[in-house]
Amino acid sequence: MPETKNVQVILRNGWSMRTPVVEVLWECPVCGGPMGDPKDHGFCEDGDWHRCDIWENPCGHVAKYDQIKIKTSKGFMTWKEILESGVDLHV
Ligand SMILES: [Zn+2]
Repeated sequence: MPETKNVQVILRNGWSMRTPVVEVLWECPVCGGPMGDPKDHGFCEDGDWHRCDIWENPCGHVAKYDQIKIKTSKGFMTWKEILESGVDLHV
């Protein structure tokens, strides 16, 4: 089984923003190496406070929220693939 972690991410669809906790395939989307440990991160948007997890990868690549593989009912997919296919996030 590949390693996964449950992290809170920022997912955008047009103007709408969600910060769901999702299960993510814990490997760098660029090189496939292990990713770093998630850290709590607070941010303010449109006057509301939100939290998410951020992390740095030992390989130096930045894994953006729209590049990571998120677990869904149909396997691991990127956010773009999830939006295009209309599957529900498996959370
Ligand atoms: Zn990498």
